Amino acid sequence: MAVLTLKQINKYFGKDSARVHVLKDLDFSVDKGKLVLVLGPSGSGKSTFLTIAGGLQTPDKGSISINGQDMLKLTPKQRDNLRLNKIGFVLQNYSLVPYLTAMEQFQLVDRIKKEGNISSDALTQLLQQLDIYELKNKYPDQLSGGQRQRLAIARALYTQPEVVLADEPTAALDSERVKEVGKLLADLAHQGNKAIVIVTHDSRLQDFADDIYHLNDGVLEKG
Ligand code: ADP
Ligand code: MG
Repeated sequence: MAVLTLKQINKYFGKDSARVHVLKDLDFSVDKGKLVLVLGPSGSGKSTFLTIAGGLQTPDKGSISINGQDMLKLTPKQRDNLRLNKIGFVLQNYSLVPYLTAMEQFQLVDRIKKEGNISSDALTQLLQQLDIYELKNKYPDQLSGGQRQRLAIARALYTQPEVVLADEPTAALDSERVKEVGKLLADLAHQGNKAIVIVTHDSRLQDFADDIYHLNDGVLEKG
């Protein structure tokens, strides 16, 4: 069953002669238990698509539903709650808090979302799987790009979201790490029954995807 559905999404930026049509009649859906890859070059609209899918931006036209609930019909507060409880984001800038250690990033999440997060044992296991457990007392600026990226992935998974939306989650990783992260995310989708959507230009992730879409100049096509 589709957990996230986008219908006829259109998005424009700018005005008059500077107006750009960034997403064009875009239809998309993802089922639980699937890892879906959206491949596209830089500027094709990947980040715009992903942030609209997660309710961080609104489209000019079209609808987005999560478990059949129309996201654009919710109040801002209801939408925040839905996002907090159902969606895990790995954003392009990692959005880690600079003055908190790796472990404190999770404690911050606990203050915002008090229930339903993974246990501390499961967190230890996740950080070990991502090979960043030893770095738990380090601050983001003491980590490499790849380590920050893996920390951002762990934080997105911490809340046990039904849907994971990841923007270029492997851009800073070497090929071995890409395989590890790809396998971890595929296992989470298949065994954890989550819907995982990755937008990227990193074709190294193709082996792990159940479905592949291509986004070119705002036009999304399957296969
Ligand atoms: P990608 O993630 O594939 O690189 P983006 O979704 O970031 O693509 O951007 C798609 C297009 O939309 C680009 O031409 C970009 O310049 C434009 N764009 C994105 N965000 C904005 C914005 N907030 N204001 C104006 N133009 C934007
Ligand atoms: Mg982008």
